[in-house]
Amino acid sequence: MNDSLNEVTVLDARFKGLISETCVLEKLFTGMRWAEGPVYFADGDYFLCSDIPNDRMMQWIDGLGEREFRVPADHSNGNTRDLSGRLVTCEHGSRSVSRTEYDGRKTVIVDRYRGKKLNSPNDVVVKSDGTVWFTDPTYGIKSDHEGHKSERELDGNYVFRFDPADGTLAIVADDFVQPNGIAFSPDESVMYIADTGATESSDGPRHIRSFRVRDGRRISGGDVFATLTDGLFDGFRLDTAGNVWTSAGAGVNCYAPTGDLLGRISLPETVSNLTFGGPYRNRLFITATTSAYSLFVNARGVV
Ligand code: MG
Repeated sequence: MNDSLNEVTVLDARFKGLISETCVLEKLFTGMRWAEGPVYFADGDYFLCSDIPNDRMMQWIDGLGEREFRVPADHSNGNTRDLSGRLVTCEHGSRSVSRTEYDGRKTVIVDRYRGKKLNSPNDVVVKSDGTVWFTDPTYGIKSDHEGHKSERELDGNYVFRFDPADGTLAIVADDFVQPNGIAFSPDESVMYIADTGATESSDGPRHIRSFRVRDGRRISGGDVFATLTDGLFDGFRLDTAGNVWTSAGAGVNCYAPTGDLLGRISLPETVSNLTFGGPYRNRLFITATTSAYSLFVNARGVV
């Protein structure tokens, strides 16, 4: 079955229940160079994202529009919120994961592994136990476009778990070419991590892998969950039913927990990432190259 509604392509009947024919893609604002790191604040009803090459973070408020939120921004990339609602940010420029305190000051959560600088943290998720899981590819130190061209200090591009309770930083995955988007299933029993290694070689990975979470601290398995033939999976989020909504070239793909591709939302620009927002968490906020878009869906994002 293949049925197009607006910019939406239904590939599986299940997708019809997840989208609405009356909801159309809205362009919220433009003027960015590479938009990434969408995060939503329901308490203030606003959306933030990073504009990595322009070294700034943008804020968009419904009814008011956009403004610069933070300039400079240490070439921020992925964003999320911790259990207390504070902004948690991956920064290429400082090669760290930071937290923004209630008074507006930034605190470095972690910037080194065994004394060596991280590469350039890319995307991050906070687990319900407060631990901070993030990917650390080299995109932010490869050139001066999205950070500062620098030598790497680590011998790999790892996925890390940081425990703020005891300050320990542990490698949870060491077999990625360029680890990128990262998210848990609703019950946190599965972890999904994208590998965008195709940026390094034409036969490199363009897939998302799924891992079983062990003891809440380790992951095992890592089978390929979904693959693209063109474009990249960069960032993604899950809904409460466990469907994976992911950037996929110039669009958003939605996969069932089984890995079946349910449908696709086409966009006019290459998508980097997305998040669920709005008071019902049923509004997709999508960062796509120069612009931010939104679309109401019949799914709710994981809290
Ligand atoms: Mg990313």
